[in-house]
Amino acid sequence: MTPEKFKNIPLSKKISDSDPRHVLFEKWRNRLGLQNQPMGVLYEGKGDNQFSKSGIAWHPHYNKWEIQYKYPQDDFIIIHELGHLYLALELGDIGFLKHDLFEGNDLTVIVNVINDQFVNYRLSKFGDFYEILAKKAIDFVKNRRINDKPEISLSVYIRLYFQLYLQFNFILNSKDKKGLETIAKNHFKNIRGILFKKYKAKNIKFFHQNFQKLDAQLNKFRVVKDTKNSQDVVTFFYDTLYLLKLWDPAFIKEILKRGYGK
Ligand SMILES: [Zn+2]
Repeated sequence: MTPEKFKNIPLSKKISDSDPRHVLFEKWRNRLGLQNQPMGVLYEGKGDNQFSKSGIAWHPHYNKWEIQYKYPQDDFIIIHELGHLYLALELGDIGFLKHDLFEGNDLTVIVNVINDQFVNYRLSKFGDFYEILAKKAIDFVKNRRINDKPEISLSVYIRLYFQLYLQFNFILNSKDKKGLETIAKNHFKNIRGILFKKYKAKNIKFFHQNFQKLDAQLNKFRVVKDTKNSQDVVTFFYDTLYLLKLWDPAFIKEILKRGYGK
């Protein structure tokens, strides 16, 4: 996530170096090999659990990566934000993270959720991060109730579907998935049912075969998740977004170009 608004906020740190959250941050910064990356961290807020408000961005004025944590109590988020930079370095493409992906439209928030699965997958190779992720993912599958709420938009359910589908199928290991397959499949089915209705309400034709194509596309994550080429990731974004039938292909390309320089 590289929200535009980060550009103008000063780099500062509101917690002390000995704070356990900052200790965790430094520990993971080293583990991920990011110690040579110039970085500023801003920790703020308490009790605000809005995941979407934490982020990492290149700050052109300070020539530093700037990480903002709105909910630094959560180990997962502290590591995840660093993971965005780790992914960019693994792809050999810092530019992947240096562009602006402005917030605020359905397309960018959907891209973000797909990108987050790449980040989490790469981080899941570190066993202790995997444990944190798996706990969250298992809890989500077991306890999350998925209902059709009219006030909740189509894009929210698409994000939910992508996160659940990619995480369950390609990030969780088979030991952790054991016994959860049926309930996960039910979630997928429920969300698909809700999405059909939401598409219909928008007068967009989206049928069973569209979902088959979408799932076939998502299944390519199995291979592309290990790529070393940022273009493969952006192509995966494009091909997935295209199948949603929500935007003109030229618009998708323009936003991806702006966001990832590809
Ligand atoms: Zn993220």
